[in-house]
Amino acid sequence: MKIYNTLTRNVEEFVPNVEGKVNMYTCGPTVYHFAHIGNLRSYIMEDVLEKTLRYAGYDVKRVMNITDVGHLSSDADTGEDKMLKGAKRENKTVMEIAKFYTDAFFSDCAKLNIKTPDVVEPATNCIDRFIEMIQVLLEKGYAYQAGENIYFDTSKLDEYYVFGNQSEEELLVGVRDDVTEDENKKNKNDFVLWFTKSKFEDQALKWDSPWGVGYPGWHIECSCIGMKHLGEYMDIHCGGIDNMFPHHTNEIAQSEAYLGHKWCNYWFHVHHLNDQSGKMSKSKGEFLTVSLLESKGYDPLAYRFFCLQSHYRKPLIFSFEALDQATGTYKKLKKRIADLPAEGAVDEAAVSAYKQQFVEAVGNDVNTSMGLTLVYDVLKSDLNGVTKRAVIDSYDQVLGLDLLNAQVQEQSGVDAELEAYVLGKIEERKAAKKEKNFALADAIRNELLEQGIVLEDTREGVKWKKA
Ligand code: AMP
Ligand code: ZN
Repeated sequence: MKIYNTLTRNVEEFVPNVEGKVNMYTCGPTVYHFAHIGNLRSYIMEDVLEKTLRYAGYDVKRVMNITDVGHLSSDADTGEDKMLKGAKRENKTVMEIAKFYTDAFFSDCAKLNIKTPDVVEPATNCIDRFIEMIQVLLEKGYAYQAGENIYFDTSKLDEYYVFGNQSEEELLVGVRDDVTEDENKKNKNDFVLWFTKSKFEDQALKWDSPWGVGYPGWHIECSCIGMKHLGEYMDIHCGGIDNMFPHHTNEIAQSEAYLGHKWCNYWFHVHHLNDQSGKMSKSKGEFLTVSLLESKGYDPLAYRFFCLQSHYRKPLIFSFEALDQATGTYKKLKKRIADLPAEGAVDEAAVSAYKQQFVEAVGNDVNTSMGLTLVYDVLKSDLNGVTKRAVIDSYDQVLGLDLLNAQVQEQSGVDAELEAYVLGKIEERKAAKKEKNFALADAIRNELLEQGIVLEDTREGVKWKKA
């Protein structure tokens, strides 16, 4: 297998620390709101990476944290605690918010056929370990206390910017006009390991520590949770590209300072899903979620298909037109598979040859579009129907598109009453058109439009969706 490693900026042959085994870590969601489909692009592509490794025969152990404390509204240590913000918004406790959005996250993942990692650990489960690690960093001289907080001292490292090429703009992540710089920091990029002097009088979650009652910074959790379950050596660490700096840079700084040796060999970063107006964000108010897609009648797996059509190292622009197109292609593909004749016997030799081809194609830096091309190659081949199905079924262990299930979920989540009403209006409009009463037909279309319903005349008949 080959993977692009952000640490070396090269596509490299993947060699795990222990032959045949892979220790893999994924930065989990900050559970103060629903995941948007941009977040989920990262988790879909990481899921494909994990499944490709398994398909290639590796024994994978994958760990994910759940960020339920410490992530401030900028990725630097400024702004409000995201969890607290969520709790205030909904008039609930931080733990209620965390539970609700953790469940919502895994429910979205299930709809997108994203496998739950072998270990899922919320940050608030591991406070003792964070304190232990911070103590060692203080003892080793990598951390200091200032203004009652504990900071990591980035000047103590030979190399802090391990991912190189950060532009000045990236380095300024989170430093916005409305927040003042933390004057306790000795160096601009020092980061908080433990907050004791809370900026937030009403900080809900606080723990006792040798430095007083407080709460952890954001980055410490991934180092500690990673080491708790995977030991001192990690093979692959994943996240979205925005995690590269400061989050992953800081994780490496504190982990290697603590361990005294290299921590993780391969860093896998998924580029962003953007909408036409720019990067998606949970804090911008209305955002795109799996439920929103469903309420508009899309099958969540059509979104997975849309993601798989592109390479994870390229930004991907989302639009409903693009999703419509992906949905059409996905449906046609499923129909072709459903129509395969169920005759003959499985040609096992052909199945293994095709499997090998798939490992080489998708195993080349998670080339998912090549994986999809191979599905079409199988369909075009002269194999018999049952062998084709067997090969495609096996590819689907990685692609996760339910390719052998002929159904494409449509109009789910749409309230039945609304559906009946719109279908009634569509019939009325059809009758008006038949009588050449185009004014009435247009009036019906406009009436629906005012109610947020868009009609589309397609070759297969009239379709509707919520605007
Ligand atoms: P968060 O819940 O903000 O901690 O983010 C969860 C994951 O989504 C992280 O790995 C982020 O890097 C990733 N992410 C955030 N925004 C996007 C986006 N627009 N496209 C793809 N991944 C994203
Ligand atoms: Zn992380």
